[in-house]
Amino acid sequence: MTYLSTDNVENHFHDVVIIGSGGAGMRCALDLADAGHRVAVVTKVLPTRSHTVAAQGGINASLGNVESDHWHWHMYDTVKGSDYLGDQDAIEYMCRAAPRIVRELEHQGVAFSRLDDGTIYQRAFGGQSRKFGDGGQASRTCAAADRTGHAILHTLYQQNLRAGTHFYQEFFALDLITDDDGCHGVMAWDIAHGTYHLFQAKAVILATGGAGRVFKTTTNAHICTGDGGALALAAGLPMEDMEFFQFHPTGIADVGPLITEGVRGEGGYLLNSEGERFMERYAPKDKDLACRDVVSRAIAIEVREGRGCGPNKDYALLKVDHLGADLIMKRLPNIHELALRFAGVDCTKEPIPVQPTMHYTMGGIPTNRDTEVVYSDGENKEAVFSGLFAIGEGACVSVHGANRLGGNSLLEIVVFGHACGVRVQEFLGKQRYHPPLDPDCWKVAVDRVERWFESTKADQGKPKVAHVRDRMQTIMQDCFSVYRTDTVMAEGVQAIEALVDDLGNARMDDACRIFNTDLIEALELENLMALARITAAGAHARTESRGAHARDDYPDRDDEHWQKHTLALINKGKVELDYKPVRTKPMTVDSFPPKKRVY
Ligand SMILES: Cc1cc2nc3c(=O)[nH]c(=O)nc-3n(C[C@H](O)[C@H](O)[C@H](O)COP(=O)(O)OP(=O)(O)OC[C@H]3O[C@@H](n4cnc5c(N)ncnc54)[C@H](O)[C@@H]3O)c2cc1C
Repeated sequence: MTYLSTDNVENHFHDVVIIGSGGAGMRCALDLADAGHRVAVVTKVLPTRSHTVAAQGGINASLGNVESDHWHWHMYDTVKGSDYLGDQDAIEYMCRAAPRIVRELEHQGVAFSRLDDGTIYQRAFGGQSRKFGDGGQASRTCAAADRTGHAILHTLYQQNLRAGTHFYQEFFALDLITDDDGCHGVMAWDIAHGTYHLFQAKAVILATGGAGRVFKTTTNAHICTGDGGALALAAGLPMEDMEFFQFHPTGIADVGPLITEGVRGEGGYLLNSEGERFMERYAPKDKDLACRDVVSRAIAIEVREGRGCGPNKDYALLKVDHLGADLIMKRLPNIHELALRFAGVDCTKEPIPVQPTMHYTMGGIPTNRDTEVVYSDGENKEAVFSGLFAIGEGACVSVHGANRLGGNSLLEIVVFGHACGVRVQEFLGKQRYHPPLDPDCWKVAVDRVERWFESTKADQGKPKVAHVRDRMQTIMQDCFSVYRTDTVMAEGVQAIEALVDDLGNARMDDACRIFNTDLIEALELENLMALARITAAGAHARTESRGAHARDDYPDRDDEHWQKHTLALINKGKVELDYKPVRTKPMTVDSFPPKKRVY
């Protein structure tokens, strides 16, 4: 063990430090704490405020409670939904594990809704089929009304309290402690007390969630700022496939909050200004339950061609009133409340105005199927970075490829949260001691924070953090939305790069050390900016349309040149892109070769 000689930094020793208390971090912590390891969970908000709590529609598993189902069909739908960019070994692993892990959640205490025969309620979601697309719609999404994430997160938190996991809440992770041998800990800032903390650990797990706040309109909470990815980039590690951000077709128009796909699963449908069920034209078979990228593009085209609704003709209508007030209040009570609060609409009587809204980060910190963080060492593009693991939305294992299926993310976080728990236990068996640390290892983190306190003394003319953030989000929204083109993206890349200097010069107002939210916003903006830069560069470079990345100037998928993952680094301040092959070989079954995606 190394005790640092500075008085400013408090030392903590754990076997494992997990950054993030969403579903991924909590599921992993539970395995490790139950196995008797000393586990710390560091989280910037109270554990049950993690974004997992907002998940509505449900979690996929081929339980077959409504009609026959099979994990292999689930795998087929996921590979197809990913537009053949998902890694098929990881997808097979996830879909096979799903029924067991969902039943385990049930036994841990998740209050799923029930069918009449007492089994877990399952609803239809987008992109779900039976018999490899030939057997009609599947109902694979297990739901606790429309508050599934809430039920899962609270259960996992309670289980962790029982298991003795140590929670460090309202602690902000600032910097990974790494050297040539791997990762040995993390520096963090205690938000409530304004103090520095060094967590030394034999293994560090990044479970920091998505980066939706890169965009202006999003369903994501304010805390979804991709911090783990930025920590990895700062440690010289790459990020994978960050050009793929999912736009959910049904965010409440103008404001963003999500109306779950479960609404269409229950029988809701979309209308244009002419009262037409337009999805019948875009996806004759699956209609409103086609994949999210397909439905988002359809709404964008309807709006572009003048058939949008409302005074600005810029949204579609989601009709649900025909389902009846009883079903809405039983299965979709949260949606009823959201529509009332954010759109002023009582959805038992009127349709809800909806627009495609940034929803999910498909890219993330690259890992192998065992959740170990991987990077390119020149020869091997999947070399393991020892002691560092990544799970959940912030990771890219890659089960979602270019487009995620609804219900597969809650599944991913628990499946790979558990896989990580198992892998880290093996790793800890070989790591008996905390390795010695560089005595100056805390300095980068302290400098990072102190620069912002210094900035409070700068002249008033310097740009404010909120101003730079607003500009970044506007550029990303305008240049990298549902449809992308070369000219607009080239402007976007330039504008984002120009903003990097503004951030370097920016100032914050509040010099107080206790619960300084100005400081947290500044640190989050640094993280968002790093991710915006690599998103912009990766998107501009990819000259094809695949999943969520849809280009007007390259409308087709180009498997010959682009069935590959993007790897982006920030090296000496410059964005660098590299690529690696998709893992097309599953674990035990035959590969699904690329086909045209029709719904
Ligand atoms: C509105 C909404 C509805 C959704 N509905 C569904 C659904 O029905 N089905 C489905 O499958 N998926 C759904 N998703 C997606 C799914 O909920 C998320 O992908 C998933 O919950 C992410 O879990 P996570 O554990 O990776 O991260 P999160 O739950 O986002 O947790 C991230 C954690 O990291 C911590 N953290 C981050 N940065 C730092 C830092 N610097 N220092 C310390 N701690 C940090 C945070 O405090 C938090 O605890 C939905 C998403 C949204 C936004």
